[in-house]
Amino acid sequence: MTNIDYKVIVGLEIHVQLATRTKMFCGCELIFAAEPNSRVCPVCLGLPGALPVMNKQAVEFAILTALSLNCKVAEFTKWDRKSYYYPDLPKNYQISQYDLPIGSTGFIEIPLPDGKVKKIRIRRVHLEEDAGKNIHSEGNFSQVDLNRAGTPLLEIVTEPDINSAEEVRLLAIELQRIVRFLGVSEADMQKGHMRFEPNVNLHIKKDNNEYKTPITEIKNLNSFKALEKSVAFEAQRQLAEFLDSGKVMQSGNKKTLGWDDIREVTVLQREKEEAHDYRYFPDPDLVPVVVNKKWLVEIKTKLCELPLTMQNRFVSEYGLSDYDAGVLTADKAAAEFFDNTVKAGGDAKRICNLVTQTGLKIANEKNCKVSQLGISPQKLAELAKMVEAGQISATASVTIFEKMTQSESAPQQIAESLNLLQKSDEGELEKIVDEVIAANPQAVEDAKSGDKKSKKANGFLMGQVMQKTKGTANPQVVAKILSSKLNKGI
Ligand code: ZN
Ligand code: MN
Repeated sequence: MTNIDYKVIVGLEIHVQLATRTKMFCGCELIFAAEPNSRVCPVCLGLPGALPVMNKQAVEFAILTALSLNCKVAEFTKWDRKSYYYPDLPKNYQISQYDLPIGSTGFIEIPLPDGKVKKIRIRRVHLEEDAGKNIHSEGNFSQVDLNRAGTPLLEIVTEPDINSAEEVRLLAIELQRIVRFLGVSEADMQKGHMRFEPNVNLHIKKDNNEYKTPITEIKNLNSFKALEKSVAFEAQRQLAEFLDSGKVMQSGNKKTLGWDDIREVTVLQREKEEAHDYRYFPDPDLVPVVVNKKWLVEIKTKLCELPLTMQNRFVSEYGLSDYDAGVLTADKAAAEFFDNTVKAGGDAKRICNLVTQTGLKIANEKNCKVSQLGISPQKLAELAKMVEAGQISATASVTIFEKMTQSESAPQQIAESLNLLQKSDEGELEKIVDEVIAANPQAVEDAKSGDKKSKKANGFLMGQVMQKTKGTANPQVVAKILSSKLNKGI
């Protein structure tokens, strides 16, 4: 029997659409789903004589991202023309960055399910412009919409340090979180703001020999699901192909594949072009970019705490579970709102529950951020403290939270007006417990019996007290009184 072992090797190229107001080299506004060809001008239409002008905001966003990915930022960079012919590219070249990317040799850290963190090296980060869109939805002809032409894209290329389909997905999610925290991209998958191109092959050990399967590149994946599934499929397909044909990597045989979302298979598109096919050369219409110290320092002031750092801080400083910390830091507004509320005084775990279980739900219904519900961190901290002190039940805190989104009132006021304050007065509650005990001799006997019936009887007696107090009794206090009475053997 042959002895076979293999490792999946993946490098990822990601295109991220930057959230600038206007395009990369002209003043056309970026508006999603605008009427076709309504956001175009001589520059992005590629008309003769029209001159491009660099969008400074896009360059700053690119540098900010490069810094957060631990990259070296180029002090000098330039623009290059990448020539190819396609109907959605009216200039017949794309303005990109070839040999001097704005960022290089960095890394990204991704949290793995086992709690470990994996470092994936970043080869380069560069800026370029997007092409338009070909539309094939009508008749036996195609249409071209150039609204997207000239949209600023950040291309991020990793080293082949990724070793499973799951790691590819985790990296993509982490990158989405980072660019959203930085505010450089909305990173909305539905709008195609992030597009992925994994390069996949296998390193196979068979009978003490090592083989490398031919690398394939899967083009244009725009969902996490398609990304993960296509890499998993491609790894299995390559393994089967190797076992069947023994085919190994040779130079110049990199294939480009597409992903068929319906059949869930990769399909061959074309043999990959080499860099020289693109005839890269410096764009004579654009001046090089010099990133001086002063500008770089200015951009660095816009760096924020990154999501993974924040997630780890919530665990170490506030004692949250990694899961809860992950839920909160999936959204910067929620994470900051939580953080500010804890800083306003209040138990972190309690606040986390209020934010994740109630706040995010209401925010989702209202289609806004949890920080935009009209509740200040101070007021939410007050609410958390009331639960902590036993003044209100956890259930009541949800009702009060909802009310707080509709009124300016303090949680204490709302609790009073809705009669949600719990009775914790032991003397008062003791009287009610006595009444319940006197009225239910059978249940009392069952509760004291210590056998199977006792738990149910105990619950019944608790329920009677809660009913008499219309649910306002503090259950911990009632339970304490009840158990001491039953144990005394009344
Ligand atoms: Zn334009
Ligand atoms: Mn590109």
